[in-house]
Amino acid sequence: MKFEPALTNYNSNYRRYVVHHVPKVHHSSTPKKMTEANLRNITASEETTSSADNRIRIILDPQAGICGGVRRAIRFAEKELKRESNRQVYVLGDIIHNEREVERLEAAGLKTLHVDELEQWAEDEKAGDPRDVVLVRAHGEPPETFDQLKRLNVRTVNGTCPVVTRSQELAQEYHQKGYQIAIVGKHKHPEIVSIIGHTQNHGIIIQFDEDTEKLNPDRPTLVMAQTTIDPKQFGVMVAKILQRVKEVEVSETICKFVIRRHLNLPRFARNADVILVVGGHKSSNTKMLHATCKAINPRCYHVVDVKEIDRAWFDGARAIGVTGSASTPSWLLEEFVKALEKWIEAGWPRVEASN
Ligand code: SF4
Repeated sequence: MKFEPALTNYNSNYRRYVVHHVPKVHHSSTPKKMTEANLRNITASEETTSSADNRIRIILDPQAGICGGVRRAIRFAEKELKRESNRQVYVLGDIIHNEREVERLEAAGLKTLHVDELEQWAEDEKAGDPRDVVLVRAHGEPPETFDQLKRLNVRTVNGTCPVVTRSQELAQEYHQKGYQIAIVGKHKHPEIVSIIGHTQNHGIIIQFDEDTEKLNPDRPTLVMAQTTIDPKQFGVMVAKILQRVKEVEVSETICKFVIRRHLNLPRFARNADVILVVGGHKSSNTKMLHATCKAINPRCYHVVDVKEIDRAWFDGARAIGVTGSASTPSWLLEEFVKALEKWIEAGWPRVEASN
C-alpha cells in the first residue's frame, strides 16, 4: 500500500522523527531513521495515546546541513591536510561561516589567511616550505586574486562552488556583451565580491531600494542573484529594477539548495513548539533562516553551541525542531539532538500531562 503522508501529522520531508516519553518508556540513544514502516508505528501510537500523552518529540530538519559546495571545499581541505604531514594548508577567508567547524578544521591543521595578508605572507613564506598550499573557498575569488596567487608562485587549490562559478561566468559573459550587471545580494559578501570581480568591478550590488538608483535606466541590464538570497527578496528587487530600467534580462541564479530550504522551512517551523536554528553567528544564511522561522514561530532561537541553550525556552514544549543552515555541519546538529535527548531522558523539559 502506498504511504500517504497527508493522512498523518508527519511531514514526509522530515528525515527523522524521534519520540521520547516522560517518564521514559523507550529510549534509543540513536535517533531513529525514518522509514515508512516505523513512521506508521509512531503515527499509530500517537493516534491511540493522543491527548493524555506527554511525550516530547525532537524533529531534525532533513534539509539542514552543509550544502554540496561548502562540503566540497572542506573535502579539498581535508585531502590536502592528509597529503603530507609537514606542509601547511591555508584557506583564503573562513572556509565556512560556522565557528565550530572552523575550530575543528583548525585543530586538524588548517590555517586561515586573508587576501590583504597575502603579500606579507608570501614574503615570510620564502623561508617556509614551498609545498604549502592555499585553498580558495566555495565563495570564490575575483580573477585578480588568482593572478596574485600566480604571481606570488603559490600552490593553489580552487574550491569555488561550481554553482558560484556559473554565476561568475554569466556575469563575465554579459559584461563583455556590454550589459550593465545588477546583482541582488549583500554588499561585501565574499561571493558577491568574487562575482563583481568578473565584471571588472563594474557590477552593481542591489541590497537596498536606494541601490537601484545607481542603475542606468537606458542600458540593457542583466539582473542576477547572490546564490544564497531569499527568493522573495530577489522577486521584490527585480520588480523595482523593472520599474526603472527599460531593457532587462533576469537570471535567477539562486542555488537550488537554498530555494528548497525556503520552500520547506515554513512547514517545518509550524510543526514544532520551539525551534533551534543552529549555525554560526556570522552566517547570513543562518540569520535569514532564523528570521524566516521566527516570523512563523516566535519561539525560535539562533544558537551555535549547546551551552547557549536556556532551558526556560522549552517550558511546556511537546515538539522541539532542530534545523541549521547551508553552513551547519551534521555533526553539530547531532550534538544538539544528543544533548536534548540526554536532558529529556533525565526528565527535562517537564511537560504537564493534558487532561
Ligand atoms: S549554497 Fe549553493 S551555491 Fe552556495 S556554496 Fe552551497 S551549493 Fe554552492
